[in-house]
Amino acid sequence: MRYVDEFRDAGLARALASRIASLVEPGRRRKLMEVCGGHTHTIYRYAIDELLPAEIELVHGPGCPVCVIPMGRVDDAIAIAGRDGVTLACFGDMMRVPGSAGSLQEASAAGADVRVVYSPLDALRIAREEPGREVVFFAIGFETTAPSTALTLRRARAEGVANFSCFCNHVLIEPPLRALLDSPDLDLDGLIGPGHVATIIGSDAFGFVAAEYGRPLVVSGFEPLDLLRSIEMAMLQIAEGRCAVENQYGRVVAGPGNAAALAVIDEVFAPRPTFEWRGLGFIDSSALGLADDYADLDAERRFPLAGARVADPRECQCGEVLTGAIKPWECRVFGTACTPEHAIGTCMVSPEGACAAYYNYGRHTRQREAVG
Ligand code: SF4
Repeated sequence: MRYVDEFRDAGLARALASRIASLVEPGRRRKLMEVCGGHTHTIYRYAIDELLPAEIELVHGPGCPVCVIPMGRVDDAIAIAGRDGVTLACFGDMMRVPGSAGSLQEASAAGADVRVVYSPLDALRIAREEPGREVVFFAIGFETTAPSTALTLRRARAEGVANFSCFCNHVLIEPPLRALLDSPDLDLDGLIGPGHVATIIGSDAFGFVAAEYGRPLVVSGFEPLDLLRSIEMAMLQIAEGRCAVENQYGRVVAGPGNAAALAVIDEVFAPRPTFEWRGLGFIDSSALGLADDYADLDAERRFPLAGARVADPRECQCGEVLTGAIKPWECRVFGTACTPEHAIGTCMVSPEGACAAYYNYGRHTRQREAVG
């Protein structure tokens, strides 16, 4: 398959791995963060970490949109779904995310009208077909998915679909990256940048990582060879004492990003003053709400919501996983009380979650020691 098979060639993978091995300084640990959960899954699905020398440690970042949703927002979504005459439309990965008193799946089993959709346009179609119900789209995701929500809201406005609204939980990539890079504990040597987000905002948008934090960042694609090549590019910068933003995913990502997508985001959304992230707490200007011009389509203004902050369960260590402080198997409930079937935290539920990647690909314990 074009653009897939050529990025999964075992011989090329071995050649890249040996080039990467030639770039490490024996005994000197280098810590690279793959920001995106999609990258984490590629790494463990294809055992890329096992191709790397022990000097390179991969740290998992916060780029999984389901994982970073705090419990209070899940509770609000469940409260919306529980209202008479209301249908909540959401992506399938949100169904099992635990709130403080259960999940949307459990709310659905108890009688709430929760429907899984594959795109926001599906939610708008339900609203069109069932004018007697209020249909609320539970929007999540980074800049990657914000344009499709924005275009759907624009279409709802144009078509005059008055029974449609959006519970907006879109988040932005730069503020949490700054929060992580500001943390004195993390001490990263470089970053593998999220290819999907960069498709919208452009690789240039990550310039602050090199310019202000002095760290190399390579925007990467999602196939095994994409990641190996990106790791090689980051290690080459480190070996040569350089620090820049480079784009390995040039077949998809342009430096300035997608102007049309950015324009519709600007039209429909406005930055929230602050937003809570699971594991990272409140981060200023890190999320999008609906702009005043779209206030009539804003579920938060249409329905009274508690908007409460809800602490994670005591045994949950998702915050430490999302900030790279611990590996999933180091969480005290990993694989015992917390499994994909009975998840305590979001990182085990989401298909992009680091805990789900470790669990599903059999990484239940430390399998290699990082050097240093
Ligand atoms: S094992 Fe479960 S509780 Fe622990 S960090 Fe992972 S998802 Fe969170």
